[in-house]
Amino acid sequence: MIQTTAVVVGAGHAGLAMSRRLTERSIDHVVLERGEVANSWRTQRWPSLTLLTPNWQTRLPGHDYAGDDPDGFMPVADVVATITRYARLVGAPVRTATTVRTVRVAREGFEILANGDVFRARAVVLATGACSLPAIPGIADAIPPPVTTLTPLTYRDPGQLPDGGVLVVGASATGVQLAGEIHRSGRPVTLAAGEHVRLPRTYRGRDIFWWLQATGLLAERYDQIDDLTRARHLPSPQLTGTSQATITDLNTLAALGVRIVGRLGRIAEGVAQFSGSLANVCALADLKMNRFLTRADQWATTSGLDDELPPPHRFAPTRVDPRTPLELDLTSGQITTVLWATGFRPDHSWLDMPVRDRAGRIRHDGGVVTGAPGLYLLGLPVLRTRASTYIHGAGADSAALAGHLHSFLSSRPR
Ligand SMILES: Cc1cc2nc3c(=O)[nH]c(=O)nc-3n(C[C@H](O)[C@H](O)[C@H](O)COP(=O)(O)OP(=O)(O)OC[C@H]3O[C@@H](n4cnc5c(N)ncnc54)[C@H](O)[C@@H]3O)c2cc1C
Repeated sequence: MIQTTAVVVGAGHAGLAMSRRLTERSIDHVVLERGEVANSWRTQRWPSLTLLTPNWQTRLPGHDYAGDDPDGFMPVADVVATITRYARLVGAPVRTATTVRTVRVAREGFEILANGDVFRARAVVLATGACSLPAIPGIADAIPPPVTTLTPLTYRDPGQLPDGGVLVVGASATGVQLAGEIHRSGRPVTLAAGEHVRLPRTYRGRDIFWWLQATGLLAERYDQIDDLTRARHLPSPQLTGTSQATITDLNTLAALGVRIVGRLGRIAEGVAQFSGSLANVCALADLKMNRFLTRADQWATTSGLDDELPPPHRFAPTRVDPRTPLELDLTSGQITTVLWATGFRPDHSWLDMPVRDRAGRIRHDGGVVTGAPGLYLLGLPVLRTRASTYIHGAGADSAALAGHLHSFLSSRPR
């Protein structure tokens, strides 16, 4: 049995940021990682992915972006290199190839079973990621057999797909990026678009993440957000990590030749049925984008920046073809692949404690797990602020949770 004060599960950027905070507070700990450092980026992301957050924003506690392209966007290989460098920089005590199979309550803390080892710790931080599993709707079971199905965790590049048409389900960041890439490979692509978040890459000469930060939107705290559950499940914005295009949205994809259809609601006898509400969904996304741009304009005016920035403007509304089909026969041979770009979910199946709500989600207050003193969550969307969804959010979140963890240990001396 290995005794330590704290165990961090997962050596992604969030687990490593926490390791740095624990070291700062001289809290003895170990980071358990099932693969290598930055394992998700090494094994679960498609190679052409680039971050949609700009380089200047890819910062971690004690580590700012220092390259020569602050306004660029990191490809996956650079994300891996950055996180690996960070692990070395902070001297994180990572045990790689150590899969945590069970975390449960034990006398004076927790027992963690990992491979053949048993760890005992007074505190545990779960930093195993928000995107470990694909979130696939139940209708996936009704896809007729000759059609290949893929998720963003198994997709690598268009060369892996059989010849023929591709139905991409979901039009958030992943869906629009992959629809574009597969279309460029010469395959006919149909993109099923449900609720989505439309944002321009740049507005008034600045990157949209500059605006999201400047206006204070990313700093909004979890306990000040009216509908927190909704905020935590909001789709990622329709953005690609490229400074070449001002906007990558449904209009752009439709102009390239991607067929846009409504939300995939049902598959009956091999026929995919799409919602007729595409026009409404798009109008709502346009409305919300314009609301944010108005907020940005108001902030620019009150900050006295109007003279420095190009004038306000608005983007063309999303065009919806009135002849958009409502059905597609998946048995006709037109579609040979369905790609589920319908989101991701965390995997905490190995947590053996009664800390879940009826929906199976771990109950927590800003990362402090309810009903399990000493147990923490890190790296989930809108965990403590809207920035928690992104890499740089781990800085403030790890500081707050390490502070809580430290107080917890001090309040219960051994
Ligand atoms: C497609 C995609 C694009 C994204 N783009 C951006 C972006 O542009 N900008 C941005 O800021 N964020 C982006 N994110 C979001 C965010 O950065 C990731 O969700 C991020 O990887 C979360 O970091 P993490 O450290 O919490 O988890 P991860 O990076 O997933 O790390 C978790 C670690 O835990 C390990 N692990 C899991 N289970 C176990 C276990 N049982 N035992 C031991 N180890 C375990 C994993 O191997 C992994 O190494 C993106 C996410 C995805 C999926």
